[in-house]
Amino acid sequence: MAVDKGIFRRTRCLALAAAVACALLSGCRSEPKQAKSTIFAMDTVMTLTICGTDQAACQQTLDQAVERIYQLERTLSVTSQDSDVYAVNHAGGAWTEVAQETQEVLERAVYLCGATQGALDITAYPAVLAWGFTSGEYRVPDRQELERLSARIDYAKLELDPAGGLVRLPGEMALDLGAVTKGYTGDVLARLVEQARDSGVTCAILDLGQSSIQTVGTKADGTPWRIGIQDPAGEGYLGVLEVTDQAVGTSGGYQRYFEADGQRYWHIIDPGTAAPARSGLAGVTVVSGSGLDCDGLSTALFVMGLEDGADFWRTHPELNFEAIFVSDDGAVSITAGLEDSFSLTQNYETREVTVLQ
Ligand code: ADP
Ligand code: MG
Repeated sequence: MAVDKGIFRRTRCLALAAAVACALLSGCRSEPKQAKSTIFAMDTVMTLTICGTDQAACQQTLDQAVERIYQLERTLSVTSQDSDVYAVNHAGGAWTEVAQETQEVLERAVYLCGATQGALDITAYPAVLAWGFTSGEYRVPDRQELERLSARIDYAKLELDPAGGLVRLPGEMALDLGAVTKGYTGDVLARLVEQARDSGVTCAILDLGQSSIQTVGTKADGTPWRIGIQDPAGEGYLGVLEVTDQAVGTSGGYQRYFEADGQRYWHIIDPGTAAPARSGLAGVTVVSGSGLDCDGLSTALFVMGLEDGADFWRTHPELNFEAIFVSDDGAVSITAGLEDSFSLTQNYETREVTVLQ
């Protein structure tokens, strides 16, 4: 009996010790789980990480997210022949039926085009095409061609009939949602992750090709996600941004470009000139609760430049966003709301940061 009791006591002791060790090692039961995948979609490499307490639920949400990305690509891509955008562009100016989701993206995108007074213009596609950014066959159009191209860019001529699910654009014009699609995709995926909360999915970081990053919740350890802000003039990260439950969108001349006659030409077009936007900025990052807004606004602010961009931030509090501007000369300006969440990395510590008020 005594022996039995001893074994019983020892077993209990061991169980207790294991429980203490478990607690010290962050809790065996609630040990964070994650599912991660890297895919190529929307012309870029995307890395999705979904975390929580249940491995199977994380994996299932990840699989749904990947499926949704390909579906959005099929619907919104300007080059895919099955897409709504392609259908509108090839309708010869006739009303075209599109999915309800496409209508919703168009409505918000058109709203942002208006708010930014056409710095964002989702009909800039003829210029994007002419410069060769779609095909990779780059060329520099001459002045007359640029004038003709800019005359074909005007988002205000896009007509939406939400009740009928119809869209119409003059035949010589063309729609391109490239400036907002990745950001919108981030919004959709964030909702997917949130819907899986009850099954043990708590957080995610969705890197949709560096230029659009969507976060859900905090990191599994409860600390904010840390997003590297690339130095437009180099390889490294000039700063780090801490975010929770927010989207981060970056537009920069360094992301997609070609060189000719000693000049660099990039894929962000000034709709007023139909040529690559030269506003004195090398890159802009926008932080907001909406991925679509981040994506659209980062493109628009890049076109506007620092001064107009800062004014836009001051005069549009309803858009609820913050921004980081990196000028051609390397100067960094951040809007006041980022003062506590942005910091320079070690190699850039001497760089001056202006806080915009
Ligand atoms: P990325 O696609 O690299 O993330 P952006 O979000 O800034 O970069 O979007 C740039 C894309 O949007 C271009 O590739 C082009 O298709 C389109 N585009 C370029 N200039 C404009 C503009 N001023 N307004 C709207 N779309 C634009
Ligand atoms: Mg954009």
